[in-house]
Amino acid sequence: MQDTVIALLKAGPAGEETRASDDLREHGDDRVGRALRSGKGCKDGVRLRPGESHILNPEAALGYKGISMNPRRFAPLLLVMALLATGGALAQDKGSVNPRPLPPLANPNDPDVAAKELFARKLLPSKGPAHVIGSYTRGCIGGAEQIPVNGDHWQLMRLSRNRSYGHPDMIALIKRLAARAHRDAGWPGILVGDIAQPRGGPALSGHASHQIGLDADIWLTPMPDRRLSREEREDMSAVMMVRQDRLDVDPKVFTASHVLVLRDAAREPAVQRIFVNAAIKKALCREAKGDRAWLSKIRPWWGHDYHFHIRMRCPAGAGECEGQPSQAEDEGCKPADLAYWFSDAVLHPKPPPEPPKPKPPMTLAQMPAACKAVLHAGDAKP
Ligand SMILES: [Zn+2]
Repeated sequence: MQDTVIALLKAGPAGEETRASDDLREHGDDRVGRALRSGKGCKDGVRLRPGESHILNPEAALGYKGISMNPRRFAPLLLVMALLATGGALAQDKGSVNPRPLPPLANPNDPDVAAKELFARKLLPSKGPAHVIGSYTRGCIGGAEQIPVNGDHWQLMRLSRNRSYGHPDMIALIKRLAARAHRDAGWPGILVGDIAQPRGGPALSGHASHQIGLDADIWLTPMPDRRLSREEREDMSAVMMVRQDRLDVDPKVFTASHVLVLRDAAREPAVQRIFVNAAIKKALCREAKGDRAWLSKIRPWWGHDYHFHIRMRCPAGAGECEGQPSQAEDEGCKPADLAYWFSDAVLHPKPPPEPPKPKPPMTLAQMPAACKAVLHAGDAKP
């Protein structure tokens, strides 16, 4: 399989868009992160990690973190986030069957070179045992494992992105959830989106998180009952689950089986959070029967209309893994918990007077020092 992906990456023309385009809809986290990081309302020295502030009410959480957000300055952020949420015109990112390999960097040792340029050029994991370093939005992974392209109850999508690597616990989790989606929800299986790059780290497109092999995107579209072609895996679009007015799910596509798939994922002890669109959270709150404790792990967040995002805790004994504090235990289903997400400012944001300035990309020196060793380590045997 690794051979296949590498061959594909090394192969032929076209597919530049795979690398260049910014996957707004699939991986909103990045835009959110950039907007958050560039937010002038943020106090200096407070490191805002967007992937680590997935909370029910971002404003409340920002306040909790001691960050004062001037509402007017918050407007650009709202717009960016709402673009993620509403963007009917933004197509889901597609890949290419023949992605163009990245050209070598003129000076990879330049301290100003973006870390994403370095990590994106590593086509294989580092050798050695699994080793998580840093946080979901600023870290890397050594000794990552690759999920096979096909399993009994899963198929991997967007192979050209080469983001099928994760911590072995994550790979095992996805396989388990795939089997459960079949058994409990009656799906033929699940479609697996991005996990992480071979050595994790920041990526050239898409999300800010997914850097340490403990985040994974699962499509909300059930796997079809047949083997998808290479082309379909790059071109097929996931199904929009949210109703046009953004206030609830579309009952024609979001079904009781989705509740079971999300429930099974949230019940996994090693899963700490699952991000979904707020309308999906609302639907789960309404539909969940019996044990509802798992609802506390389901967190509304921008950009999850088509897929859900599983985030695992740091594995036991992973001393260099910087996780997140656990969230509140309550279901998060009270109208007040969700009101923010359905407010006019979020659903219909006003354009900012001036666009937020992009921040320079993260460099290797800004990452945990051990990530340099992971980047330069030898390749694991394919
Ligand atoms: Zn994600």
